[in-house]
Amino acid sequence: MSSYLGIDWGGTYIKAGVVNSKGKIIAKKIYSSAQLKEKDFFISEVVSLLNSFKKHKIEAIGIGAPGIINIKKGFIYYLPNISGWENFPLKKALEKKVKIPVSIDNDANVFALAEARLGAGEGLSRAIFLTLGTGLGSSVIFDKQILRRKNSALELGHVPLSLEKKPCGCGNYGCVETFTGSGYLVKEYNKLASKKKKAKEVKDIYQLGLAGDKNALLIWKNFAFYLGRFLAGMVNIFNPQAIILGGGVSGAYKLFRPYLFSVIKEQAMWPNLEGLKLRKAKLKDAGIVGAGLLAKEGTEG
Ligand SMILES: [Zn+2]
Repeated sequence: MSSYLGIDWGGTYIKAGVVNSKGKIIAKKIYSSAQLKEKDFFISEVVSLLNSFKKHKIEAIGIGAPGIINIKKGFIYYLPNISGWENFPLKKALEKKVKIPVSIDNDANVFALAEARLGAGEGLSRAIFLTLGTGLGSSVIFDKQILRRKNSALELGHVPLSLEKKPCGCGNYGCVETFTGSGYLVKEYNKLASKKKKAKEVKDIYQLGLAGDKNALLIWKNFAFYLGRFLAGMVNIFNPQAIILGGGVSGAYKLFRPYLFSVIKEQAMWPNLEGLKLRKAKLKDAGIVGAGLLAKEGTEG
């Protein structure tokens, strides 16, 4: 069976895996994003990864990158949360070294591709997919197709939500992701928490919430409020059958879901809510699987 290298490039981790043509992961390696921050090092690491996976006879590489990409050219315009990659022809630079086809798309599109084919979005013709992590990635499937324009993804995470001058990685301020990003949530929690109970990462706020910590529960309630207001707007625009949530922050789904859904219901126009489902992503490594599917299918068709 053919196999592909899928790379899921997030703000915190870079996960690479060998994916077979059915979308199954057969080998995996995880890096911290900081580790592969430099372009030259990123490229040389992909080359050595291919060598270490030689026995799988990889035919093509797919990359889901966290930013704005020209997908035909595999050209990165910029990555809002990772500096130093502005205007970089990654596809060209990589193909020169690896001698197999490389396809690059926005990481949220790649996530949506996997979830729509094999996960929580299977069979749907209209759905919104969000990756909740360092930032807020988004992808929309409409008439069973991922909506793309000249650039790779719909950057819903950069819809301005507030007039507060909260700086965003995109260079603007007050975008939705400045209220939902993992860094923001940790900072907000630590402002409220006592010295003994500081959170290091979002997972801690989830655990504390489960244990009934009032500050942690308040953080999730506020998170749901902002995300819900934003999603109500998106429901009015796209009238989706489902909203599918993935990414590290969605690990706390159980805690924020009820409030999130009630905010959406309160704010969206009611005929658009009919049959609307809120779902957690199903695949364990949707980013890797989707990048593998992208490698298989390319960005042309
Ligand atoms: Zn922004």
